Amino acid sequence: MSDAPLPVFDGHNDALLRLAGRPPGDPRAFLERSEAGHLDLPRAREGGFAGGMFALFVPSKRKREQKPERSESGYDVPLPEPPKLAEAQRATLALAASLFRIEAASDGRLKVVRTVGELRSCLADGTLAAVLHIEGAEAIDPELDMLEVLYHAGLRSLGIVWSRPNAFGHGVPFRYPSSPDIGPGLTEAGERLVRACNRLGILIDVSHLNEKGFWDVVRISDKPIVATHSNAHTLCQVSRNLTDDQLKAIRDSGGMVGVNFAVSFLRRDGHNQADTPLATIVEHVDYLIERLGVDGVGFGSDFDGATMPAELGDAAGLPRLIDALRERHDEATLRKLCTENWLRVLEATWRA
Ligand code: ZN
Repeated sequence: MSDAPLPVFDGHNDALLRLAGRPPGDPRAFLERSEAGHLDLPRAREGGFAGGMFALFVPSKRKREQKPERSESGYDVPLPEPPKLAEAQRATLALAASLFRIEAASDGRLKVVRTVGELRSCLADGTLAAVLHIEGAEAIDPELDMLEVLYHAGLRSLGIVWSRPNAFGHGVPFRYPSSPDIGPGLTEAGERLVRACNRLGILIDVSHLNEKGFWDVVRISDKPIVATHSNAHTLCQVSRNLTDDQLKAIRDSGGMVGVNFAVSFLRRDGHNQADTPLATIVEHVDYLIERLGVDGVGFGSDFDGATMPAELGDAAGLPRLIDALRERHDEATLRKLCTENWLRVLEATWRA
């Protein structure tokens, strides 16, 4: 193992949502080391987690209705009702505020970045770079007023849907085995949202989007197509993963995929079991490199949002994954996977 861990920029984490369960307004929960979840500042530093997309996610009510239906071959999780606009806005502002409070309490150790220049200087000087991302656009009104405001607050990445349907489109329910081709494409408001994101320079994330919506984004967007946290459907046939046709479209657009470490999107059997070897992540990385080229793959851990392979553990375990990849890839490739591909795509998407 090399001395200093290779810096990693990561496409997706749910740390803000996990911390929202702590006493509200206490930013120390992220700044102090904990054994809970997967990501905090000390573990990020230990593992070389140098920055990432921090998701603002509006939780669903009535979780009981989300009980998965299991069969011999797999599962299907019924989708919860979408939240109301006011409720979604309140939850989104609360999580955004929690990130700004962490930034303020961090004494310069964490910065919310809004430009590629800011991101690059954080990667150079060891400041943890946080990019504001919304996972599901429920907080955005169809007139897109909230989009303008959130952009000025720092929003630089947006998933049109989490898996729930909303005013803009339809996501994939969590279903295994299943194709992602479930339900209709983007609504008219969804098409306007894509154009507005292109104009503002907000990355559009197709993870969670269903296949018809995906092809609508490919048709409408003039920016690289990016799935921040998804895997290869050929290797794990869950609705959340990308088919070879989708991967080809991502490649043709100059886009990329952040490999998701969630075991249920990695394993061929789709099981949610932590005893999943690190080699399973390596398999998806290799397959995606084969399909997308070495410039089209990065990481999108899903830390704090999913079951991780026990061999990885948490953000502090990233060097073990890099070492496993180092057995098959040279340093130039590792740097692309860890940071450079994300930088290239963000440079092509953001306005500055
Ligand atoms: Zn997600």
